[in-house]
Amino acid sequence: MKYITKYKSPNYNSRRNSKIKLIIIHYTALKNNKDAILHLCDKEKKVSSHYLISQNGTIYALVDDKFRAWHAGKSFWNNITNINSISIGIELDYNPFGKNNKFTYKMMSSLKKLLTKLQKNYKINKSSVLGHSDIAPFRKQDPGKNFPWKSLLSSKIVLKFKKLKVSEIKIIEEWFKNCNLKLQKHKIILALSLIGYDTREVYNNSKLYSKLISAYRNRYLNNEDRLKNKLLYISLITHLFNFMLTKK
Ligand SMILES: [Zn+2]
Repeated sequence: MKYITKYKSPNYNSRRNSKIKLIIIHYTALKNNKDAILHLCDKEKKVSSHYLISQNGTIYALVDDKFRAWHAGKSFWNNITNINSISIGIELDYNPFGKNNKFTYKMMSSLKKLLTKLQKNYKINKSSVLGHSDIAPFRKQDPGKNFPWKSLLSSKIVLKFKKLKVSEIKIIEEWFKNCNLKLQKHKIILALSLIGYDTREVYNNSKLYSKLISAYRNRYLNNEDRLKNKLLYISLITHLFNFMLTKK
């Protein structure tokens, strides 16, 4: 796999021996790839990513994997808040309101190759390829509701969920009952938290709760299904069940 290595970002520091466990996908929300390179390599901006992929599928390696690039900001996953230390950040030259508002075939094809390689190199599992909106749902929307997660699913990069049997739904329901959970909202919050999401402040804050729900919806539900509450719940317990089965 070929990278362009002539642009380097100064915005990184040491991982201090942390192991790479997650891959975070972003979009730049900038005008074009040139602006993205300038932005990510500008010392003043204090942001960076390990990789940037252009609309035509060129991959730029801006920070060496062994260093801690500054892409995640204030984030949370599985009770870990120092996400930069344990992750690889990939930026896509994409802006939902710009001319670069397509996840092009070439961009996606390069992304899939890069993800597959990184997963193999660092033994990163399928549940650990995340969007910025997964780890910072209250502040970030990238890679956005149009990002084709489904194509990563068919390339076996992210986890494919097996549909639940009625008996399996019962197991989950029974388990919620044993946890003394009656309200659907509380079941949803517990499921999200077990998957890894930041639910610390959503119990009593409905604004944050709806931001978290919309982050989950945008990633896991089709456009037409996004507003159906029952589908959200089914999708979430299916996710939880599949996730538990694959957890090491
Ligand atoms: Zn981002």
